[in-house]
Amino acid sequence: MFDEKAIGSLVDKVAKKKPRRVFLQYPEGLKLSIFDISEKLERLGAEVFISCDPCFGSCDMKDLEAKALGCDLLVHIGHTEMKLPRKTAVPAIYEDYRIDIDPTHLLDEHIQALGPCESICLVTTAQYISAIEPAKRFLEEHGKKVYVGQPSLAKHPGQILGCDHSAAEPFDNMVDCFLFLGTGRFHPLGLAAKVKKTVLVLDFETSVLENMNSERDMMVRIKTMQIEKAKEMKRFGVLVSTKPGQSHPGTAEKVKKRLKGKGKDARILVMDQITPEKILGMKIDALVNCSCPRLSEDFRQFKKPILDPEDVDRL
Ligand code: SF4
Repeated sequence: MFDEKAIGSLVDKVAKKKPRRVFLQYPEGLKLSIFDISEKLERLGAEVFISCDPCFGSCDMKDLEAKALGCDLLVHIGHTEMKLPRKTAVPAIYEDYRIDIDPTHLLDEHIQALGPCESICLVTTAQYISAIEPAKRFLEEHGKKVYVGQPSLAKHPGQILGCDHSAAEPFDNMVDCFLFLGTGRFHPLGLAAKVKKTVLVLDFETSVLENMNSERDMMVRIKTMQIEKAKEMKRFGVLVSTKPGQSHPGTAEKVKKRLKGKGKDARILVMDQITPEKILGMKIDALVNCSCPRLSEDFRQFKKPILDPEDVDRL
């Protein structure tokens, strides 16, 4: 839950802006609290327009919609700010969602298993960013060389996004392993796909230390199968999202050109939220995803191979 402290901090930030009309965006997990939050913002004298579209990250700023509705402030809750390719059309403020966890007791439990890793790069998601410092201290006290990288799109040192592993990738040749602190498979698996070294997960829900190598191998096999299938296919849809942090039209143009060069038919397909229903009825055999990398995980829903832009060279 978004606690009272976070709501208080948000109200203070909004009060300083003295907005007349606020556009409010939040992730699905905060839906239950959103009326309470909007009520507190309305007490500041602002009218609040509550977005009902799903929101998965600060890549998905609805600033153009906010502007069209005459809002003078966009309030984005639940995600940290990330670098976007353009300035937002209305001023935006962010209130991220943090869970403060000191992972030292868990690291203590697993310190033997970390034995072969003398140098470690620590990564996490925005939610657990406060775990980085105590983890670094603990590991250094136990003789490890610890690296925490500065991301290029994400905000905090050590933070990775599904579309930004730059806090980790430069350390691939310097460390023995990467250690992800947090929960879920999407982020550590995405990192495992980008680096050569082992990615370990210290899972805050299960308290287990896991090695992602076998899942990485499985992912590589699935990807190879999808590329093999796509080789036989003729008609490709190149997916572009209009969400500001997911929109890569230049990449889509290059992908289309490369597909054409390989004798494929290719069309650039644009939508805000990319879902299988929106392309139903279109004559498409395979897709290339130029938006959020999370989409490529959903290939079963699309019932077609979904490639990443770099896979096109393997066709
Ligand atoms: S991984 Fe996807 S949802 Fe997350 S920030 Fe990147 S584009 Fe947005």
